[in-house]
Amino acid sequence: MNLVLFGPPGAGKGTQSKIITEKRGLPQLSTGDMLRAAIQAGTALGLSVKATIDKGELVSDDTVIRIIAERYDQSDAANGAVFDGFPRTIPQAEALDAMLAERGKKIDLVLELKVDDAVLLSRVEARIKAGGVLRTDDTPQTLARRLDVYYRNTAPLIDYYRRQGKLKTVDGMAEIAAVTAQIAAILGGVPA
Ligand code: ADP
Repeated sequence: MNLVLFGPPGAGKGTQSKIITEKRGLPQLSTGDMLRAAIQAGTALGLSVKATIDKGELVSDDTVIRIIAERYDQSDAANGAVFDGFPRTIPQAEALDAMLAERGKKIDLVLELKVDDAVLLSRVEARIKAGGVLRTDDTPQTLARRLDVYYRNTAPLIDYYRRQGKLKTVDGMAEIAAVTAQIAAILGGVPA
């Protein structure tokens, strides 16, 4: 099964994708995690994307498409994957469809986590208060920019996937366990 977890920054995609990947034995392919790992490791890729990420802007489509394709071809994704934070633009979604088609695969389901802006902002503020700034792009200012980028570039994917009949929407404002339960109910109807 190939699943896309979709939603604004702070919606809980990371939390839910970890739960899904553990239950289903599928790898979580998070472009955000991969890019942060590259920055941490000080690779050429990391150096080239750090300023963009810190500003809350999107890294180029070519860059993320390349790292996703490399990652998807590793053996642990033989039965599919959970895509988290990718695709984020229409060209990325088209590239993902093409990449999967070349391998005789497809996206089976897209789960949209719906959360209001005010809730997203208060989650980030709570995170900062609780443990200091954990991510350099987790500041109220950068979140505002990330949200803007989300509505402009990423939200159009909702229609892209709805037209393909693949979109399911989940209330991301419920408690973590309740969100997990909604997702489990949807996944119950999808073949592994
Ligand atoms: P969030 O928690 O805001 O959803 P992520 O951890 O998925 O963020 O990504 C953090 C940052 O990494 C983004 O703001 C962006 O700069 C970059 N990034 C991650 N995935 C992509 C992508 N698919 N396309 C372009 N940029 C990306």
